[in-house]
Amino acid sequence: MAAPLRFYGPFAAQVVLMLNQIRSFERLPREQQDALQRQQLHTLLCHAQQYSPYWAQRLKRSGFDPARPDISAFHRLPELYRSDLQTSFEAARARWPGLTDDHVIVATTSGSTGAPVRVEKAAPQYSLIYQAIDLLDAEWHRRDPSKTLAWLGVGLKDAEYPGWGEPFESLGQRGKVLKRCLGGVSTTSHLEWLLSHRPDYLKCSPFVAADLAQLALDRGVSLSFHHILSQSERVTPRQRALCQQAFGAKIVDRYSCEESGWIALQCPQQDQLHVLNPSVLVEIVDDQGQPCPPGEVGKVLITSLHSFAMPIIRYDIGDLAAWGPPCDCGMTLPVIARLWGRTRHRVRLPSGEYMPMAFIGDEIGEIEPVREFRVMQYRDGELLLQIKAARPLSDDDRSRVRRIIDRNGLAGLPLFIREVEQIDWGPGWKREEFVRLDLPLTLGTQPPHN
Ligand SMILES: [Zn+2]
Repeated sequence: MAAPLRFYGPFAAQVVLMLNQIRSFERLPREQQDALQRQQLHTLLCHAQQYSPYWAQRLKRSGFDPARPDISAFHRLPELYRSDLQTSFEAARARWPGLTDDHVIVATTSGSTGAPVRVEKAAPQYSLIYQAIDLLDAEWHRRDPSKTLAWLGVGLKDAEYPGWGEPFESLGQRGKVLKRCLGGVSTTSHLEWLLSHRPDYLKCSPFVAADLAQLALDRGVSLSFHHILSQSERVTPRQRALCQQAFGAKIVDRYSCEESGWIALQCPQQDQLHVLNPSVLVEIVDDQGQPCPPGEVGKVLITSLHSFAMPIIRYDIGDLAAWGPPCDCGMTLPVIARLWGRTRHRVRLPSGEYMPMAFIGDEIGEIEPVREFRVMQYRDGELLLQIKAARPLSDDDRSRVRRIIDRNGLAGLPLFIREVEQIDWGPGWKREEFVRLDLPLTLGTQPPHN
C-alpha cells in the first residue's frame, strides 16, 4: 500500500528489510517453504560440521555429506536434550573466525525444569530476526505501538517508560509502557491500577488476565483493552472467553523460548498458532521419533535455522503439541492447533501408560465457587486436587469435580480433594494447573476431604 515516504535509521532499516523477507513466506505454497527451509538447513549443518566438534561428530554418525544436500541425514540426527547442552556447552559452540565475545549473547534458561541451560547466540543476526518478528506480530494483530501498554509480571520493577523499546522506538512509535510487579499485591489492587490508567493493551499471563476478568465481572466494572498479549503459556478457551466477556479483548498468544527465540505467533483471525517457518523448523514427533499426523499429540523439536553461534538442531524443547489443518486466513505457515505444555505434564494412568493431561480448567471453572485449582500427581499415581474457593464446597460441588476427573480419562486414579486458603504457585512466572511429582503423597495430619 502506498504511504508517505519515511526515513529509517540504519538498524531500523535492517529490521524492516528483515520483516519484509519474513513476510514473503506467509503465503508461499508449502512445497516452496519446505525447499527454502531445506536450503537454509543445509547451510546450517555445513557450518555446524565445520566449526563445532560436537556437531561434527553427530553429523558424521548420521551420514551427513556437505557435498550432497540430503534431508534424510538431518532426520537421522538424534534429538538434542537440555542435558546435551549442559554437558557439551564448549564443544557445541560453532564460533567462526571473527565472531568475538562482543557479538555474542548468552541466554540462560531453566524453563520450569530447574536445570539451567546456557545458549550462545550471534547478537547481530538474532536481534534482527527477533525484532522483525516482534514487528510482524504487531502488524498481524494491527497493534498500535504509539498507544499505552500495561505489563503485569513477576519480578518486574514498577516503572513507566516512554516507549515500547526496540524496534518500535527507532520507527518513531512511542507509546507508553507501564510496568507493575505482580507479586505481593492483590488482584483487586491490580484491577484498580488498571482502572486508573485505562491502558490500550495489557500484557500478562493468561491466568492473571482471567483472574482480573473474573473480578471485573464480579464487580461489574467497565474496562476494555484492544487485546491482551500473552507469551509461551497454554491459553485455555475459558481464559479467552472470560477476557472477551469482561474486557471485550482477545488474548493474543506468542510461542517462544530462550534457546531459539520466536517459534510461532497466533493467527490474526483464529486462536491457533502459525509456525515461523522462515526462521525455525518445527517437528512434532511421537515416542519413537516418527512425525505425528495432524491431530496427534507429540513432542516438539525445534531447529533454529540461523543458530550459527551454537546450533540448535532437533532440540527437545520439552513441550507437547499437535498439528492442525491448514488455516483459512490465507496464510500457508504451518498451524499448531494446540499446545499442551510441558512433557512432564503427562499424567500416569493406572496401567502405567502416560497421556497428556487434559485441560480441565474450563469444566472445573463452571463450578461456581472455584477461584483457583491445581492438580498434582504423586509418585504412586494419586491425584491431589487443591481448590481455592469463594465458599466451602458442597457435596454436590465435590461430586461434580469427581465426574470431571472421570470424564477426562482419569477414572481409576485415587483422588483427594483439598480446599486451601492459597495455592502456592512457586516463584516462577508460569502457573501450571497440573504437575507430576516424584514424591510419595503425604497428607499431613488433616484427613483428606475425600
Ligand atoms: Zn491463520
